[in-house]
Amino acid sequence: MLIVQKFGGSSVADAGRIRNVAGIIAESYLEGHEMVVVLSAQGDTTDDLLEKAAELNEAPSKRELDMLLATGEQQSIALMAMCLEAMGLPVVSLTGWQAGIRTNADYSAARINRINTERLHRELDKKRIVLVAGFQGVNKFDDYTTLGRGGSDTTAVALAAALHADKCQIFTDVEGVYTADPRKVPGAKKLDEITYDEMLELASMGAQVLMNRSVQLAKRYGVELEVLSSLVRAPGTKVKEVSRNMEEMKITGIAKDANVARVTVMQVADRPGSAFRVLNAVARAGINVDMIIQANGRDETNDMSFVVAEADAEAACKVLQDRQTAIGFRDISVDKDIAKVSVVGAGMMSSVGIASLVFEALNDEHVNIQMINTSEVKISCVIDAASADRAVAAIHRKFFEA
Ligand code: ASP
Ligand code: MG
Repeated sequence: MLIVQKFGGSSVADAGRIRNVAGIIAESYLEGHEMVVVLSAQGDTTDDLLEKAAELNEAPSKRELDMLLATGEQQSIALMAMCLEAMGLPVVSLTGWQAGIRTNADYSAARINRINTERLHRELDKKRIVLVAGFQGVNKFDDYTTLGRGGSDTTAVALAAALHADKCQIFTDVEGVYTADPRKVPGAKKLDEITYDEMLELASMGAQVLMNRSVQLAKRYGVELEVLSSLVRAPGTKVKEVSRNMEEMKITGIAKDANVARVTVMQVADRPGSAFRVLNAVARAGINVDMIIQANGRDETNDMSFVVAEADAEAACKVLQDRQTAIGFRDISVDKDIAKVSVVGAGMMSSVGIASLVFEALNDEHVNIQMINTSEVKISCVIDAASADRAVAAIHRKFFEA
């Protein structure tokens, strides 16, 4: 079998952890598998590098920033290679460039265009364990680029797709994907399987297990993923097209995203094109809008609310204020003290009453719902931030602990 394994920063944080991971890699290799292993930078290395940069230049060019950040992963692969060498195993470490990972020119948020797998195949043919620096590639100028924070997941999935790997295992410091954040909800259970769509919803809802883009990529290329712990040797969670849970369980997981804000545009003129002008202004500023509601108007005006990432709230207000006369509205307000609680499950489509059970749980806790949004695999509610953990726990009890 050809296996791609990825180990995150906490899994390779120090010499002890590197030895532990080397043991995991060695075990699979000695079982006779071809091994390609993607590593992240050790521990907080990427953040430390960003701080070092800021000491010298508050706004460094993205090219130089990527040049710097790419060194974090390079340290990890070299150190791991030395550790495996010391164990007497054949190994070679490759940077993103050496591994043939070509990206677009978008420094700090690059997308992988293609992977030239020649070198990788040559090394595998020599029966070597191939270590690849995650999070990086090179663009058409032969400059280093990075893929955005958490990008090593994407490197691993892209390599698995390009090499037609049999498996892609993402090792991290949790044992898999849970029905809710196990640090906050003691009754949370580990899932054996989850679908790509469910994982995508959970990943974008703040369950920080996998980088969203890596799940999209896995879905597109049919790469079977497994999320598992590098510290506890136990089966993790498999991410695939169809999961067993779909039939058995009504919902799969509950996630909370507190990094959101609600923008309300008050007294927007009630005529065709108003909503378009509001949302178009925001979209053209490159800001993603998530939930939209328009309250029933009076006096020929409507109030419109939508949810954006907290970091985008000020910018969203600014672009709207700049166009106040053209759009035609009275005022804007922003509320950052909100959270989005989402219930996710591919089984939702085929079972009735899920939504009412969610609302019942919130009602039991006297949590007021400000906004509701549903899709085929998700129900999201915006509530005040202070109630969010309590709301997640209450919903979890209704579905999983009854
Ligand atoms: N080292 C990078 C980061 O901290 C990439 C990764 O860990 O996946 O974001
Ligand atoms: Mg990560």
